[in-house]
Amino acid sequence: MDWPQSTCYLNGEWLPLAEARISVLDRGFIFGDGIYEVVPVYYRKPFRFEHHLTRFERSTTEIGLANPLDRAGWRALVEGLIARCGDEHQFIYWQVTRGVAKRDFSFPADTAPTVFAMTTPFTRPSATQREQGLRAVTRADERWLRCDIKSVSLLGAVLARQFASENGADEVVQFRDGWLTEGSSSNMWVVRGGTVIAPPRDRLILEGIRYGFVGELCARIGVPFEVRRLRQDEVESGDELMLTSATREILPIVTLDGRPVGGGRPGPVYVRLRAAYDDAIEALRS
Ligand code: PMP
Repeated sequence: MDWPQSTCYLNGEWLPLAEARISVLDRGFIFGDGIYEVVPVYYRKPFRFEHHLTRFERSTTEIGLANPLDRAGWRALVEGLIARCGDEHQFIYWQVTRGVAKRDFSFPADTAPTVFAMTTPFTRPSATQREQGLRAVTRADERWLRCDIKSVSLLGAVLARQFASENGADEVVQFRDGWLTEGSSSNMWVVRGGTVIAPPRDRLILEGIRYGFVGELCARIGVPFEVRRLRQDEVESGDELMLTSATREILPIVTLDGRPVGGGRPGPVYVRLRAAYDDAIEALRS
């Protein structure tokens, strides 16, 4: 493997990514028993960092995992990574697992969590992706019923994204019992009659940090925003479809199962939201 030449953090130590080692008995490796976060960094500043910390705290609480660092500790760790990489735009990945223990499903007593964090230079979505949009395919949501937890058990997401790749698409649009949930690693937004509509923040989707951000941007630019369940036919017949995630920011989906969405081109609401998104990022430059 061609290792990125970056420095990472593992259990209190800074070391080259290629040299970081964990035990084969780590519960993250054995059970996928851990929580992660992905934080975009623009102009060397973590974007909506407090929101990411809140989500992380919520996820760890939901699975009874002790959060090994306080907010100041996480901030220091993330600033250490940003400084060691040096790039203007980065994305930080961290994960905490329930640590190393004899293989047993129940939680081990007195096991220290494994804390790992790395950063990667971030190439923002290309002009082609922004201007031509993405292709997506529909799929039944086969994940578990606690998608609100940002768990490192990602097999459901891996299989969903692989399905997209094998079908020449960039992402899946998942439906549970005919209702829109989300992508494999993104939230979905439908535009109908000029209103941006998103499925509710319940246990069936991960509340992306961009979920709240898009709501704020809609308010800022005067686009009506509604939260309600969406049937598959309402998604398929929508005027526009968009996705958001830390690394894809906000991007339009222009075909669904090979059929054009709306006009088959990025729509006017997307264009306005994209501009507002870029303005918010540019405001971080200084
Ligand atoms: N849903 C899922 C399942 C995801 O994996 C992600 C990406 N982490 C998102 C939504 C979007 O979240 P965010 O805006 O925080 O990247």
